Amino acid sequence: MSKNNSISRKAFLGKISMLSLAGAGAGVLLKGCGNGEEAVDPCGDLSGLSESDIQLRDALNYVAETPNPAERCDNCEYWVADQHGEQCGGCTLFAGPVHPAGWCSSWVPES
Ligand code: SF4
Repeated sequence: MSKNNSISRKAFLGKISMLSLAGAGAGVLLKGCGNGEEAVDPCGDLSGLSESDIQLRDALNYVAETPNPAERCDNCEYWVADQHGEQCGGCTLFAGPVHPAGWCSSWVPES
């Protein structure tokens, strides 16, 4: 392999690493209150979860900001308050922190 190919491959791998980090970081961002700014999701740390845990969250279309204010995690039957600290609850359907203003496709009103 020539030196030029080696440098190109190194640069390529460096860019891939940066894109991976950027993608991971984007997973914990929330849009601000309509002002176009993004804030860090305090319930977005998924570092303790397995790949299957994360896949289940994704399969249920979990989002940290509900698209419908009438349907929020904190008024859902499956919500577990304060399971992951003061700001974040949990969900009986999957592992990991859940934002009170979040939502997923399994939302049902609390009884
Ligand atoms: S089932 Fe969905 S909407 Fe209900 S608490 Fe769990 S993640 Fe939130």
